[in-house]
Amino acid sequence: MQKFILALLVVFSGLTLTSAQTIPSPTDFLGYDIGTQFSRNHQVIDYFKAVEKAAPHQVKLENYGKTNERRDLYLAFVTSEANMKQLETIRENNLKNAGLLEGEATATDIAIVWLSYNVHGNEASSSEASMLTLYKLLTEQQELLKNTVVIIDPSVNPDGRDRYVNWYNRTKSEPYDVDKQASEHNEPWPAGRPNHYLFDLNRDWVWATQVETQQRLEFYNKWMPHVHVDFHEQGINEPYYFAPAAEPLHEIITDWQRDFQTQIGQNHAKYFDKEGWLFFTRERFDLLYPSYGDTYPTFMGAMGMTYEQGGHGMAGLGILNDEGHVLTLVERLTHHTTTGLSTVEMASKNAKQLNTEFSKFFNNTNLKYKSYVLKGNEDKLNSLKTLLNKHQIAFENATNTKVSGYHYATGKQGSFNVDANAVVVHSNQPKGKMVKVLFEPNTKLSDSLTYDITAWSLPYAYGLDAIASTSQVQSRIILSKKALQNLNDAYGYVSKWNSMEDAQFLAELLKQNFKVRFTEKPFTSNNTKFERGSLIITKGDNKHIKKMVSKLNTIAQEHAQPLTAINSGFSQSTPDMGSPDIKLVNKQKVAILSGEGTSSLSYGELWHFFEQQLHYPLTSINTDDFSKTNLNKYNVLILPNGYYGKVFTENNLTKLKDWVKSGGKVIAIDGALRSFAGKEGFSLNFKTPEADDQKENLTAYADREREYSNHLITGAIFNTKVDATHPMAFGYSDQYFTLKLGSSAYNILENGYNVAYLNDTKVFSGFAGQQALKALDQTLVFGEEPMGSGSFIYMVDNTLFRSFWENGKLFLVNAVFFVNNNAYEL
Ligand SMILES: [Zn+2]
Repeated sequence: MQKFILALLVVFSGLTLTSAQTIPSPTDFLGYDIGTQFSRNHQVIDYFKAVEKAAPHQVKLENYGKTNERRDLYLAFVTSEANMKQLETIRENNLKNAGLLEGEATATDIAIVWLSYNVHGNEASSSEASMLTLYKLLTEQQELLKNTVVIIDPSVNPDGRDRYVNWYNRTKSEPYDVDKQASEHNEPWPAGRPNHYLFDLNRDWVWATQVETQQRLEFYNKWMPHVHVDFHEQGINEPYYFAPAAEPLHEIITDWQRDFQTQIGQNHAKYFDKEGWLFFTRERFDLLYPSYGDTYPTFMGAMGMTYEQGGHGMAGLGILNDEGHVLTLVERLTHHTTTGLSTVEMASKNAKQLNTEFSKFFNNTNLKYKSYVLKGNEDKLNSLKTLLNKHQIAFENATNTKVSGYHYATGKQGSFNVDANAVVVHSNQPKGKMVKVLFEPNTKLSDSLTYDITAWSLPYAYGLDAIASTSQVQSRIILSKKALQNLNDAYGYVSKWNSMEDAQFLAELLKQNFKVRFTEKPFTSNNTKFERGSLIITKGDNKHIKKMVSKLNTIAQEHAQPLTAINSGFSQSTPDMGSPDIKLVNKQKVAILSGEGTSSLSYGELWHFFEQQLHYPLTSINTDDFSKTNLNKYNVLILPNGYYGKVFTENNLTKLKDWVKSGGKVIAIDGALRSFAGKEGFSLNFKTPEADDQKENLTAYADREREYSNHLITGAIFNTKVDATHPMAFGYSDQYFTLKLGSSAYNILENGYNVAYLNDTKVFSGFAGQQALKALDQTLVFGEEPMGSGSFIYMVDNTLFRSFWENGKLFLVNAVFFVNNNAYEL
């Protein structure tokens, strides 16, 4: 046998030592023909490890983190032996070429291609394809690796993948059943697409709220590839989709990026045509919303692309689709392997030009707005800085006293004074195009038909006052923060209330059994004015806590929470500390509905919010169990966005109302409001748009999609009027910018408090169709409807959508802890 191998080596003397003879194929390694079974995540990773072992001079695996369920995340670096020896030099050269690292690039003829598989867990053909792609690169396609570094992420979302694969493996028939009604083609709630917290990781690139994204971005920004591909799947009747993308394309996308997408697409088409495989291009998948696996890389200078295979969580190992075709996993992974290799081929063939164009992309001297200046409370500015750091976008502090330009709060030209804490972000920096995408007031839309939201402008999302200036604003490097002073003995301590940091501080105090009060009216003490919502921790309330001052000091230091000492319960201006307007915060027991009927995304956002952001306990109750649940164990019940038709039967609705009347509090979000609108005992009502005019019935068939968009709001930003005296709005001013995700509209409450509502329908950013706008004027955004001793709280707009609208989060915390605080203690 030895001799035989040697003889082979002589025969194939052109091949390097890492030939197919030593590298295990996926089929050999897995013990089944690839595509005839779904491989669990660890099998995929084990295969990559086996290949690394067989070809260590060409493959290097790097562990880049862990998921919430403690699965390891890996990147595989695949290239020629010569490149592998100087991998770090190649990486640094690339950053120098983009101006992201000091120094002159010495060589710029290596292409860097990053292939991301299985970001959606139940689009499961792609991790299978990652194995075959790796194998083929190292066997049939060695030539391409001479001038290409291929970075493979075989499983971006291993928790989701295993949720799907484990479910499928235990559900499927033997042999698999192609009947789409079979249980193996119908995943249960919440399905395998999202990650542990049920977030869609392909909407999270910019916001980076999830650990998978956060850990990946560190490596992404270290490497800054020239090409990035995100492998997906769509419905079982769809053919394959690849680049070029559909309009709208963001205006910063360069001509070269557009052209080269087409060239790549044409190269794929060559292979697909040869086999007679169907595909489509230039439709449906646009490049606008910046948080995708195609747009983010594109706005960071790469050729960012999405490839979509028909299949998805429904397809299993094989399914008979509506066109009478049995779509198999083998077929799905073959297509993904073909486009993956074709992508590497195009990068290799155009390595030099990729480098040249990549370098040009990072020159940003010609952008319209030169500086974005932001001011607001320190916590909000800090959370913005945290976000910018995740993307290694530079920022400084302002030195000017007055800046002018486009004023976000008014939507007009204006000016304001800045203090030394104001943050300045210049667009003339290597990542300036991303700065433009994230900060510009209104994204230019070449087409209103888009796949996603059309507004995300950071000043609105973070609740900061901002100016976009067409001339460069003076700035200086940020000074380090002063340390907090230790607390001295006092009557009590007051904390401000206007940020998530304040909310986390409160949550921690409650968990540690502190008695905390909040004020419903402003007061002055110790020569300081405290606003509504300010937290008060008195020594008298907390005699049960040993070494109370020292313990409070520790918590305050850990949370970097400045506290003001007060020396007496007698205020300079009322209320005094014993006033009924200063109330104890109840240590709320919070429950949430999950499961069938709830939107898994919305439930996941709330779950993640309580567990990972607020750090406050939350009990999850399955909707199936609602009728037998003893609600009296909780103070607050949260209803995520969803369709509760089957949950709130007449009996269950009565049960819910009875619990509220006796002091319970329901927080209903977005679609959950439908369960109460127009029902007996509720003042909540739909606002129906005026009847469409006759003209619409004469719409041509070909224009039907466009006509429909007239009724849509695809994530647009509106100014709302806020009743800042209501506890749900503590910490806010009388103006709040809301992200509207749809056109559902509810009338102003007749019996209840309208905490925030739309007073006019000016669109500050994003797209809203004319018909949809008509119905929006004078409609509810947030409100409270008291019922008996309790309340229904309505949140028409979901402030936790993808968890990126930072400025909306406090409304929810206020709703939990401050609204209708008469609630009993359990
Ligand atoms: Zn997908």
